[in-house]
Amino acid sequence: MSYLLIVPAAGMGRRLGRSEPKALAPLAGRPMIEWTLDALRGIPFARAVVAAPPGREADFEAVVAGRADVISGGDTRASSVRLAFHSLNPSDADLVCIHDAARPLASGAETQSVLDAAARSGAAIAATPIADTVKRVESDYVVATADRSSLVAAGTPQVFRADLLRRALAAGEEATDEASLLERLGIPVAVVEVSRLGFKITTPEDLEMAEALLRGREPGAGSREPGRS
Ligand code: C5P
Repeated sequence: MSYLLIVPAAGMGRRLGRSEPKALAPLAGRPMIEWTLDALRGIPFARAVVAAPPGREADFEAVVAGRADVISGGDTRASSVRLAFHSLNPSDADLVCIHDAARPLASGAETQSVLDAAARSGAAIAATPIADTVKRVESDYVVATADRSSLVAAGTPQVFRADLLRRALAAGEEATDEASLLERLGIPVAVVEVSRLGFKITTPEDLEMAEALLRGREPGAGSREPGRS
């Protein structure tokens, strides 16, 4: 059994107000994806693949050279992951870790916990409890309040035994995360609670928050660990 890493990075970051790949956005002095790969560098991945926006592969190769292979991603996150999975061609028992390029503040220790949970159960995801009260809204009016005690926000890393992920991807369906594809097949997915510091950068405010957290940190200092910021 090997650990394999897929980093979907083919998004163009339109909600960031950019027309450049989000994963190359400057963050505390270097491209976002460098922080993301640094966060996971303590984990012995046998191979790593970054899915880049089609046509921008060379820009990504220049940044991740020697740390990951770069492939051409797809139109959607699911298709980028599918293309990366096929390029890895894993053995059934391998554990495939999928981690968004857009989460540069993930923790290596928490990622290892998700890998350990997936080694036991076959599938595990990082998730955070919901802090706010969650409302269903229609036409700008509240129509219902959800029971947040049974809700979590699913993030990445998400880790799956390769045989299960192969089955889930084979349907060719779209989803905003890979766990959804396994759920549709009735495959149990374990949840590992992680810190909210592993948030996904989507908007300019997210980028500002990440900048504030990373400013002053030495490049290559490694990942955020519990108790450190
Ligand atoms: O758009 P969003 O931020 O939800 O995307 C999550 C991750 O999926 C990002 O790291 C993004 O680069 C990646 N992605 C991708 N291929 C796409 C769209 C998004 O690899 N076509």
